[in-house]
Amino acid sequence: MRLGGPESDNIEDRRGRGGGGGGRGGIAVGGLGGVAILLVCLFFGIDPSVLLSDGEAPPPTQREASREPGRDPGQRNAAPEDAGRRFVAQVLGETEQVWTAQFTAMGRQYQAPVLVLFSGATQSGCGGAQAQMGPFYCPNDRRVYIDLDFMAQLQQQLGARGDFAAAYIVAHEVGHHVQNELGVLRRAEELRRGNDANAVQVRVELQADCFAGLWAKRANDARRILEPGDVEEGLAAAAAVGDDRLQRRAGGRVQPESFTHGSSAERVRWFRRGLESGALSACDTFASR
Ligand SMILES: [Zn+2]
Repeated sequence: MRLGGPESDNIEDRRGRGGGGGGRGGIAVGGLGGVAILLVCLFFGIDPSVLLSDGEAPPPTQREASREPGRDPGQRNAAPEDAGRRFVAQVLGETEQVWTAQFTAMGRQYQAPVLVLFSGATQSGCGGAQAQMGPFYCPNDRRVYIDLDFMAQLQQQLGARGDFAAAYIVAHEVGHHVQNELGVLRRAEELRRGNDANAVQVRVELQADCFAGLWAKRANDARRILEPGDVEEGLAAAAAVGDDRLQRRAGGRVQPESFTHGSSAERVRWFRRGLESGALSACDTFASR
């Protein structure tokens, strides 16, 4: 990738600070049980309990305070500059440009999410976050949580190497934030009642994949961020984190009814749809059969 744009300021660097621990969010996969499910939640997860739980939103005062950029300079920018942080901040900056333009075109204002870098464990508006959960988005505090070490390790394990694969992870999580802004997450929560909750979750995840593709296309059209091989890398990453692939890797039987993110083929298909069209309307996974 060629990332020359400005870095986003919406990074909250909590690395090197002790994890908050506690909170039942840390046991996000609890109740679902099983190695396969643990693995499924590892990567790209909106942790299902985030949406299914009753929230645990922080009190309004705390939320306001933490949303204010630069309010607490002692906590932000605590860790030294490094390549991983810079990369994530640049990708986040690219997502801000693309989504700000999209929202403006819709006559709306895009409120960008804050991206929290943490190591080990931290607290989120959705409960305790642990690196093992993988990157996730918490709608309650409108933050993306990423542990850079863990992400690098997973990329290696899953064979989803390269910078564009990492950018895809960030863009997918930002996609969940866009869903939050557009009211999709709220509607999905309503849909879950009386429907197959896993099937609804799959549509939420596939739409975030499509949004990630849309982002890559728009950013590339505007600023030529893609280099040869990047698209293939993104598609390989999408395939590597399909539920069927993860379940097989975990040594289990492939159980489509337990999917929460979609099969490899579906993830590739929706990422590609966003990537080729660059159109929001192409990402209606809820209308699709
Ligand atoms: Zn997701």
